[in-house]
Amino acid sequence: MISIESDFARFEPGTVWLVGVGPGDPGLLTLLALQSLQQADLVIYDALVDGRVLDLVRPGAQIVYAGKRGGRPSHDQKDITESLVDYAREGLRVARLKGGDPFVFGRGGEEARTLARNGISFRIVPGITAGIGGLAYAGIPATHRDTNASVLFLTGHGADGDVASVDWSRLSVAGQALVIYMPLGHLEDIATRLTAAGNPADTPAALVCRATTPEQQVVVGTLATIATEANSRGISPPTLLVVGEIVRFHGELGWFLDDIVQPGA
Ligand code: SAH
Repeated sequence: MISIESDFARFEPGTVWLVGVGPGDPGLLTLLALQSLQQADLVIYDALVDGRVLDLVRPGAQIVYAGKRGGRPSHDQKDITESLVDYAREGLRVARLKGGDPFVFGRGGEEARTLARNGISFRIVPGITAGIGGLAYAGIPATHRDTNASVLFLTGHGADGDVASVDWSRLSVAGQALVIYMPLGHLEDIATRLTAAGNPADTPAALVCRATTPEQQVVVGTLATIATEANSRGISPPTLLVVGEIVRFHGELGWFLDDIVQPGA
């Protein structure tokens, strides 16, 4: 039997752990992530962190919100990163929670660099990224022998928020599925550019919204219809866009919540 107290890394005072907590379902936490919640003096989380994950924080630990509300930053990234340094210098065990994986579109790299430059000891705890965990809960295999030999994870916009900076024709390789993070601001534009790059308009596309939570929704369409579907159903973030033949598996393999397929149905 593994003991959480003795068999995992000890959370030393004055250190920061950047902890990936997965896409929502607390069952997707790693043992290291759980250990960080149970040993931290201070837990800093943002909007993507599920409330059920925070329920696992050790009683007595301080919990601080540092994220965006209603799209407006309540703290800017610089403040958050600098506060990690300050708290560590006070001798606290600081757990900085990130949705999914801290190094996948999570700005974990920026925060880790600031810690490194300031001589603060840190650990990166990988998490299940939404593109992997969310697809599993949507019943969409990231790869399948019959459909795709590769899968590409990308963001719907660059650091400047500009879809035009992405070379969509280079991404449109036959036999490659796309999993696009943060697509909602540019859905129509993305679908148009992918079609212009040679993808048939009837290429299957799906939106996977609030994956792995009780509010999970999977909307299936095509490149031609997906933006309209998103609007008519009022889809909001966090949502992933999946493009490629793998989307077709959802009908057969969707197993979570309303997606459960009745045998023989
Ligand atoms: N570090 C995170 C990604 C942060 S970027 C990770 O590894 O998952 C934020 C984007 O991630 C969202 O806009 C959305 O595209 C995706 N995302 C995060 N959680 C999600 C969820 N539960 N369901 C669907 N998409 C999610």
